[in-house]
Amino acid sequence: MVISIDVRAFSSGLPSRIDELDQSQALSPRDGITKMRRAKTDRITSGCYAESLRDCDGRPLSREHYISESLLERFGKSFTVDGFPWLSTARKMTPKVLQAKILCERHNNALSPLDTSIARFYDVLAGVHKGINVGNHEFNGADIERWALKVLLGLAMSGNLRGVDGRRARAHDLPAQYLRILFDEEAMPVGCGLYYVGDPIDNVDAGLLDISVNHYPLGHANAGEVFGITIKLLRFQFVVSVMARIEVKTQRIWYRPGEFCFGAPPLGRIALQWTPPSKVSLVLGF
Ligand SMILES: [Zn+2]
Repeated sequence: MVISIDVRAFSSGLPSRIDELDQSQALSPRDGITKMRRAKTDRITSGCYAESLRDCDGRPLSREHYISESLLERFGKSFTVDGFPWLSTARKMTPKVLQAKILCERHNNALSPLDTSIARFYDVLAGVHKGINVGNHEFNGADIERWALKVLLGLAMSGNLRGVDGRRARAHDLPAQYLRILFDEEAMPVGCGLYYVGDPIDNVDAGLLDISVNHYPLGHANAGEVFGITIKLLRFQFVVSVMARIEVKTQRIWYRPGEFCFGAPPLGRIALQWTPPSKVSLVLGF
C-alpha cells in the first residue's frame, strides 16, 4: 500500500528565514523522547494499542493523529491523500481526517514529542529545498525511527492497513517488541531500523510526503506480512525496517547514516545520533 500525501498545491507555512527554524530543541542522544518518565501504572485502557505494556492511564481513549498533525499542518489546511483502502481516488483532506482513537492519553502524550521532532526535521529539509542555508541540526536517529513506527502502527490500528487475511488489526495482534521499541524500553534489533535510500523507489510517488508500507514479496516464507515502512519527505527517503534486515538489490542504501550534508556549496547539515555512533556521512544534492 502506498499513501501519497500530495501537498504541492498547498505548501504554505514553510520557514522563509533561517531564524524561523527552531534550533533550541536539539535532543540528547541518550534520551529517547518517548520514554515514560514515571513509574508504570499497571493499568490498561481497553482499545489502547499499547495496553500490553500495562502502563495506560485507565481513562477513555484519546483522539490521535497517527500521521503527525504538526507535520500535516506544514502543508496548509488541506492536502490530497491517496492510497487508503477506503478511497477509490485521491481526495482533498484536512488533518482532522487522519485521526483515530487508538491510544490512551498517557501513551498518546508520550508519543507527541515525535511529532514535534519530525516537524522540525521537515522544516530543515524544506529550508534546504528553498535554497536557504539552514546551519547544523541534530536529531536522535532512534526517534526518527520511532516516528515511522508510530505511523505504521497508527495505520494498522486505525484500520487503514489490513492484515494478510483482510482483518483489521487489534491491540493483541501487535508484537510487544514493537511497543517496547516505540516507548524506548528496548532497542531496535541489530540490522533493523533506518536505511536511507539514495535512488528512486518503485511505487513511491513524487509528492512531498509519501508513505509506503513494505510487505514481504510473494514466494517469501512470510509473504504478505509487513516488515517496515518507507517514508519520503520532500526528496529525503528512508525505510524503517522493524522485522528484518532489508535486502535491496537495485537501490543504493545506507544503514543509519550519521550525517547528511546538503548541497555544494553546503546549505546545511543534519546529524543523526546513534548508539553506537555512525561514521556514514552523505552529501546530498538536494
Ligand atoms: Zn495506553
